[in-house]
Amino acid sequence: MSYQYDLIAIGGGSGGVAATRRAAKHGARCAVVEYDRYGGTCVNRGCVPKKIMWYGAHIADTLTNAKGYSFDVTQNGFNWEQLVTDRENYIKRLNGIYEKNLTKENVDMLTGHGSLVDAHTVQVGDKTYTAERILLAPGGQPTVPSIDGAELGITSDGFFELQQQPKKVAVVGAGYIAVELAGMLHSLGSDVSLVIRKEHFLREFDDIVSSTLTETMQKDGISIINNTSINSLTGSAGNITINASNSKDNSENQYGPFDCVIWAIGREPLSGPMNLQNAGVETDSRGYVPTDKWQTTNVSNIFAIGDVTGREQLTPVAIAAGRRLAERLYAGMTDRHLNYDNIASVVFSHPPIGAVGLTESKARELYGDTIKCYQATFTPMYHAFTTHPQKTAMKLVVQGEEEKVVGIHMIGDGVDEMLQGFAVAVKMGATKKDFDDTVAIHPTSSEELVTLV
Ligand SMILES: Cc1cc2nc3c(=O)[nH]c(=O)nc-3n(C[C@H](O)[C@H](O)[C@H](O)COP(=O)(O)OP(=O)(O)OC[C@H]3O[C@@H](n4cnc5c(N)ncnc54)[C@H](O)[C@@H]3O)c2cc1C
Repeated sequence: MSYQYDLIAIGGGSGGVAATRRAAKHGARCAVVEYDRYGGTCVNRGCVPKKIMWYGAHIADTLTNAKGYSFDVTQNGFNWEQLVTDRENYIKRLNGIYEKNLTKENVDMLTGHGSLVDAHTVQVGDKTYTAERILLAPGGQPTVPSIDGAELGITSDGFFELQQQPKKVAVVGAGYIAVELAGMLHSLGSDVSLVIRKEHFLREFDDIVSSTLTETMQKDGISIINNTSINSLTGSAGNITINASNSKDNSENQYGPFDCVIWAIGREPLSGPMNLQNAGVETDSRGYVPTDKWQTTNVSNIFAIGDVTGREQLTPVAIAAGRRLAERLYAGMTDRHLNYDNIASVVFSHPPIGAVGLTESKARELYGDTIKCYQATFTPMYHAFTTHPQKTAMKLVVQGEEEKVVGIHMIGDGVDEMLQGFAVAVKMGATKKDFDDTVAIHPTSSEELVTLV
């Protein structure tokens, strides 16, 4: 049977583009289906615009801290609209680079919504295309709750569309996107409340980072409204009241009015519109597409990568899984697959968080009393001269007699850039002794990690 393509990917984001480009490089005839701008969530509504806003917020913090270093700085305001315009122009350039790279590798770009007709046929608009193999890489979208008035709020997608800075904002959610948005808006001058359903945010992270960030946020003036379930939003755009119940004392409370409410309560996979049932591809109860370690779905010629699989939902993970899959299928690297252990990640909060490996509680669950932790909390030298000193905290989780490092958790200025190298050490199986044997770099915050006692 001959097909028009060797591989068609549905989704021109991090995973779909990486996989088809790598497959094409090894001689496969490839196409990618995309209805929106190339680059996916990361480039258009995720990592990239987020990091630009984070840099802006970081500069705002630096300006505030300049006085401590004897600079007489007068701040004459901040032009949100200009930063957003410049950011979007930068992203347009990236969209162009994505398309140019696909063209260079001879990957066909099929414009429209892709869905399955059968296990070898993809429908795009009123056309159909056949392929020996199909890759599902549609990513996900933000979840909006089904409550009265939910439409008065926006999501992270809406945040990146804001042309004006909201003055009084409620960010709803306890995950990394919620704390990132809250931190950026606060540093840029908005009055921010963070509304969370349980006692703490970042519950998947080690206690040392979530408790340190809670303390920092509260000291900085972010209002944390915890144990709170939102029942409805009332009012009108720009004048929104949150009606909520407190799960601790059962009280009914109102918060606001806010000129902006941002839902950051999670994301859901975009598997539904792909008509997966036409090819018999199974999803789990939440719509994620399970795969084996080779990224293969329950249908042997259909693969899935990235956020739609529900595993570590990060850009480099989608890219790595896509490239490895292409190399396995088209470059003869028969054992090539992504190992999902010890994937490092950073939260661009203020200050940032870096984590790799097991949290202390997860490690104790798995290894019991063979786990030991080394930790330190300190005020970095930079903050000796600032009016809003932020603490840095670090924890090494080690296991067994040889004290193999199974987790590193850090929060503080610079840990976002510090983590990558330490992640290599963890991946290589480094022990606490290897850390101790490494001579420190002074004066830095990172030296603490190799001098913990
Ligand atoms: C606010 C935010 C901040 C983030 N920050 C970071 C970060 O700092 N670091 C990090 O590593 N990750 C971050 N992420 C996560 C990262 O963006 C995702 O993990 C990554 O984009 C997943 O890649 P993907 O290929 O699975 O999906 P995507 O990049 O989402 O690409 C999927 C593409 O498929 C298209 N599509 C969907 N359905 C169809 C269809 N039926 N037909 C045609 N096209 C379709 C979509 O339009 C989209 O372009 C962030 C995400 C968000 C929302």
